[in-house]
Amino acid sequence: MPLKMYTHALVGSSASVVLVALVGSHPAASIYLQTRGVGVLEAAAVGAFFGVLPDMDIILHGAGAMRHRGPLSHSLLASILISLAALILLPFVPRGLPVHPGSWIPAVAFLASFLHSAVDSLTPSGTLLFYPLSRKRFRGGVRYDSIWANVLISAVALALAALIGTPTSF
Ligand SMILES: [Zn+2]
Repeated sequence: MPLKMYTHALVGSSASVVLVALVGSHPAASIYLQTRGVGVLEAAAVGAFFGVLPDMDIILHGAGAMRHRGPLSHSLLASILISLAALILLPFVPRGLPVHPGSWIPAVAFLASFLHSAVDSLTPSGTLLFYPLSRKRFRGGVRYDSIWANVLISAVALALAALIGTPTSF
């Protein structure tokens, strides 16, 4: 389980770094997504948080309140709800936290949590990735604890972050 959690954190971090770098380098895009002043480590930390957030359903699953990898934590719907929650909670980001509260956070919340579900859809139990648009469960043959799969996914994520999300882009 831990390796997989690190993979989710790395995928979320990398996606966030890439998103902020791409938006930050296009003035027109940064009108809609405020990324001014957002640093690489900040983007990576927020991305990692939302990258692992869907697996917090394990806690609720243990309490019998929710199914692990169900549609309320691992789907398009879940990512929209997570993004909306991030948007609603934005004004309550405590002052003093090294985070620039802006519209980039809900965007990263959506992207990182949806990529989490997409990566989990490679496993045999899969996810209802596009729920509620589709009730198809997307599955693959990759075990969550496969070292090769985790290393490969992490390496691709890191390579994209290094290539596109270089510090000079921020
Ligand atoms: Zn998961």
